[in-house]
Amino acid sequence: MRLPRKPWPQRFWDKVDKTPGYGPHGHCWLWTASCDTDGYGQIRDTDGRLRKATHIMWELTYEQLCAAEEICHTCHTRACVNPSHLYEGTHKTNAADMMRDGTRYQVLRHQMLRGEQHPRAKLTEAQVQEIRQIYTPAPRGARHATMSQRILAKRYGISRSVIAQILRGDIWHNLL
Ligand SMILES: [Zn+2]
Repeated sequence: MRLPRKPWPQRFWDKVDKTPGYGPHGHCWLWTASCDTDGYGQIRDTDGRLRKATHIMWELTYEQLCAAEEICHTCHTRACVNPSHLYEGTHKTNAADMMRDGTRYQVLRHQMLRGEQHPRAKLTEAQVQEIRQIYTPAPRGARHATMSQRILAKRYGISRSVIAQILRGDIWHNLL
């Protein structure tokens, strides 16, 4: 006789490790069961469908997802299922996250490096804070030069998209 399976969602919660110390702020909850090839946790739901652990967490915490929606991480830790680190995105934003975080995900497995310790960092923490302070969006139709994203990019010798990511907090999240 087969033992009855643990009731849902207990079966889900059993696989979540809430030990502090993981991720950029030490508050990531790591998925301890199987992950897909991209490093996202996965589990069979009550219907026997294999689904992403982040999607299940979203639905347990917030609301039902529709098929086109994806769940992205603010903490850039793919194995994380802490609902406060998740946000709804599209396939496009998630793909962009995955590209950007490819390296960081690898790093996490061994040792967390963040901010200026990261080998790809071109800026210091002080510069990142400075960029966030001096940024001034150009008013509509303005003729005068303000500290726009374009000017900041030139001044710090980095691309405008990196400036935008800094301002949005997509990168250097640990300094916000
Ligand atoms: Zn997290």
